[in-house]
Amino acid sequence: MGLQAVRDVSLDLLGPDGVSDSGADLRSYSCDGLTGWRETPGLVVLPRTTRQVATIVSACARNGVPFVARGSGTGLSGGALPDAGGVLIVTARMRQIVSLSPEDRTAVVEPGVTNAAISAAAAPHGLYYAPDPSSQIVCSIGGNVAENSGGAHCLKYGFTTNHVLGMEVVLPDGTVTWLGGESWEAPGYDLRGVFIGSEGTLGIATKVAVRLLPIPESVSTLVADFPSPAAAGEAVTSIVAAGIVPAAVEMLDHLAIQACEAATNAGFTLTAGAALIVELDGPAADCEASFDLVRQHCTEAGATGIRVAADAVDRATIWRGRKAAFAAAGRLSPSYFVQDGVIPRTALGTVLERIAALAAEEGLRVANVFHAGDGNLHPLVLYDPAVEGQHGKADRLATRIVEICVQEGGSITGEHGVGVDKACSMPKMFTPDDLAAMRRVRDAFDPAGIANPGKVFPTPRLCGDRPGPYTPHPAEVAGLAERM
Ligand SMILES: Cc1cc2nc3c(=O)[nH]c(=O)nc-3n(C[C@H](O)[C@H](O)[C@H](O)COP(=O)(O)OP(=O)(O)OC[C@H]3O[C@@H](n4cnc5c(N)ncnc54)[C@H](O)[C@@H]3O)c2cc1C
Repeated sequence: MGLQAVRDVSLDLLGPDGVSDSGADLRSYSCDGLTGWRETPGLVVLPRTTRQVATIVSACARNGVPFVARGSGTGLSGGALPDAGGVLIVTARMRQIVSLSPEDRTAVVEPGVTNAAISAAAAPHGLYYAPDPSSQIVCSIGGNVAENSGGAHCLKYGFTTNHVLGMEVVLPDGTVTWLGGESWEAPGYDLRGVFIGSEGTLGIATKVAVRLLPIPESVSTLVADFPSPAAAGEAVTSIVAAGIVPAAVEMLDHLAIQACEAATNAGFTLTAGAALIVELDGPAADCEASFDLVRQHCTEAGATGIRVAADAVDRATIWRGRKAAFAAAGRLSPSYFVQDGVIPRTALGTVLERIAALAAEEGLRVANVFHAGDGNLHPLVLYDPAVEGQHGKADRLATRIVEICVQEGGSITGEHGVGVDKACSMPKMFTPDDLAAMRRVRDAFDPAGIANPGKVFPTPRLCGDRPGPYTPHPAEVAGLAERM
């Protein structure tokens, strides 16, 4: 009944073109990048303006209907997983660059604008938007805000929270307000900071004010080959200990190299035990001096070969190779879990050894590709769902990897968020009191609990009722039924 009322309001407001409530349409929104979790939404709406978002959210609030915001659906923790009895509010039609001020080095954009589109709009002014998730050509700035997304260059430049000045937000009761603003410093509590990383549980961002940086004068990039990830890890430690702050330090292990090279021909050395991509940027003179030191540290740590990017095209090829890593893992295995955890940088060698030992115990392979500079691991746990028992083993291994991260003083997620996937892992990091304090923050924004319910916080329902990755139903295997 409540959902019907929201549907009527949405149809009046957006017309049939902006509302989906038929089976096939609804099912196409049933998951994000974490495809093992699926739920068909009750209704999908595609608003174009803040006013339309606010009107729909008000209707949800009046009728007690849950809503979930969705940007581009590239999230890897099930954050945009719909609610079966709720409304999925998709920002794909909110893609305007509202304003861009080269003088102030700021821009205000709508939430559906892709991360890469901000830099493209700023480029003619010699500016760019620094956070660079590997999904940047598709993921939305609204999703980046909700997940506090990072990327290869966040080692030097910081995460989304360091580059977003404020957001226009539709609160869960339909009120429209700004958190933060377009200027650098706002008095009072940092509600902007509270909203960033809140995974859609505090409302919907309808405009985002970002800061832009000057495109660096000079960029130097190298790929160093090492016999093992441990040796590459030593190079990272000594580069950072020497006081050099690279723009990015990324590592691929042997398996990840095979996958990326097969998918992109980026020129990685197939025989290497690990490859380190190190990029420096800034004033040309600084860059040049530090680059020589980086080469020296790599050589001293046992690098067996160093390739320096010859020009911008070569650099782009290297990054294309690295940024394709998740998709490229499909070359190694029919299926895999992308894990996301953080460890202290100095624990890199120990943790990789522990992961390898656990993988051997389970009889599975793990490819590692990660932001080595800030200790953000992305182990790819490879498995074949057609092999009896492998999915269970892979799931267990992925969970144990996160436990190792916490034991080593790290975190259950670096940048992909908690979503539904890791809600059950929250008690591994936080006490009941911690979680209760977080709930009180959430309740202050959303006392009725209608904004993205079931995410971030552990609930008995989710913990006891965990749907796994897709496995074919016997009726499908027998050709008697088809999954839509
Ligand atoms: C191949 C690949 C590579 C990736 N690489 C990286 C990486 O390097 N770094 C990284 O951090 N992430 C990475 N990701 C994860 C993902 O791209 C990011 O989390 C991204 O920010 C999600 O944006 P989205 O628009 O797809 O959001 P969605 O998946 O649509 O939503 C993500 C969350 O944001 C909420 N949300 C969306 N829009 C809004 C809004 N306007 N207001 C409030 N809440 C909203 C949703 O409810 C959900 O909780 C990668 C994903 C893939 C598939």
